[in-house]
Amino acid sequence: MARSFAGVPDVTRPGNPRYDQACRVYNIAGIPAPAEAVIAATVEQVRAAVRHAAAACRPIRVMSTGHASLSRGTMDDALLIRTELPDAVRIDPYTRTAWVAAGTRWEQVITAAAPHGLTALHGSSPTVGVIGYLLHGGLSFYGRRHGVAANGVRAIELVTAAGDHVRVDAGHDPDLFWALRGGGGGFGIVTAVEVELIDVAATISGTIAWPAELAATLVPAWRDWAASAPREITTSLRLLNLPLLPHVPAPLAGAQSLCISGSAIAATAAESDTTEQTVAELLEPLRAIAEPNLDTWRTVSPVEVLRTQMDPDFPIPVRSDHSLLAALPDATIAGLLHTAGPTSGSPLLAVELRHLGGAFATPRQPGGAFDRITAPWLYFAAGLAPDDDATEAITDQFAANNAVLAPSTTPYTAPSFVENTHQHQHTFDAETARAVAAIRQRHDPDGLFRGDVARGSIHALTRPSS
Ligand SMILES: Cc1cc2nc3c(=O)[nH]c(=O)nc-3n(C[C@H](O)[C@H](O)[C@H](O)COP(=O)(O)OP(=O)(O)OC[C@H]3O[C@@H](n4cnc5c(N)ncnc54)[C@H](O)[C@@H]3O)c2cc1C
Repeated sequence: MARSFAGVPDVTRPGNPRYDQACRVYNIAGIPAPAEAVIAATVEQVRAAVRHAAAACRPIRVMSTGHASLSRGTMDDALLIRTELPDAVRIDPYTRTAWVAAGTRWEQVITAAAPHGLTALHGSSPTVGVIGYLLHGGLSFYGRRHGVAANGVRAIELVTAAGDHVRVDAGHDPDLFWALRGGGGGFGIVTAVEVELIDVAATISGTIAWPAELAATLVPAWRDWAASAPREITTSLRLLNLPLLPHVPAPLAGAQSLCISGSAIAATAAESDTTEQTVAELLEPLRAIAEPNLDTWRTVSPVEVLRTQMDPDFPIPVRSDHSLLAALPDATIAGLLHTAGPTSGSPLLAVELRHLGGAFATPRQPGGAFDRITAPWLYFAAGLAPDDDATEAITDQFAANNAVLAPSTTPYTAPSFVENTHQHQHTFDAETARAVAAIRQRHDPDGLFRGDVARGSIHALTRPSS
């Protein structure tokens, strides 16, 4: 039954179709079930929803697209605020920035920026929301050249626990601005961000694939190749087990494949003359190992880069796991292939290794609480989990993978890749965690936004030592 409040037309409860609409998510393995839900389409509606939650003593959970719907608890007693603000993207080609309203997905930003010769540090999916991605750091296929995406955020507009709408940046409440960028959530409801765009004259991007039986040769070859690859190119290697679906290219459907996907970016016309050639030369040693059964690497538009990795752009039930690796020795690769490779019977849809390093580790400009990753490799695995049996099989497989990865695993994670509530979001050192917790405590002393705090961050909510 819908209830009306000034500025909030529709605070809904289970049974109301608008409630179901507010709870729609990309990851349908984690459909939220809050006590109440609202779709906020204006700043005033966000403010009124926050006031409503405070008056009703309800914790708030916030989301835009539900790509990370499993990363926060179900929060049965919460008010879910779904941000869907219109007037989505404004590009300023002179300052090379984009102002982006909450609810906007990356494809809208990249499409609006492209005619100006600009793009942004988006991730591998066109449908991921700009706000959640940037607040959690954001790892892009341009990241080895440009670093963690959140470092390019220039300003954040948000509604605070007190119900105020504020704009924070390096000169206005710099502490809150710092904590918002990668601090683990729980600071307010973001209504818009202003983010730097980057010059783009050419993008070379694609996927090259072989039958997974070649993995024992190709994975160590890619590891050695990547270790000396220039910053201009960022790649991921995936063992894919894709079903027969319309968007899956024929060579990849119905059998396990090994894919190398990624992008290189040329910022100027002068650079673009040489970049395509450089990328061809770079990939040549990998192509020479064995004839690929799919090879889509070519010069593409910046908008097409969003589809390089072929992430599904429709809702799916997915469970995932992730860690950051300090090294990829031969023994770790062999163990992973034995556990999750061609003859393993692994139920996983994807096992991914992303190459980090470059500006991910040494950013040109420092950013927020999470502004760099020093680990050179990222591990990610995911499986389709439509029911309990599938979830159990996937969870067992994650455990088996983790056992072989253990000697190479660091205690840290990349916040945007933590998509469950049992894994701690362990992003920074204890001192940074304490500083973030102190800022959260100052801005939300009653814990109104506690439904939005990532698990590792909750543990940091002990008193700062000084
Ligand atoms: C197919 C796929 C591909 C991906 N590829 C990449 C990639 O290449 N690189 C990468 O780094 N990540 C990637 N991700 C992870 C993605 O960046 C995170 O899941 C991100 O948090 C999603 O943000 P969202 O707003 O779309 O999701 P949501 O589930 O709506 O939000 C996630 C979280 O963001 C916060 N949030 C969202 N909106 C607001 C708001 N208005 N105010 C305050 N907080 C808010 C909340 O904490 C919320 O719990 C991918 C995820 C998927 C599913």
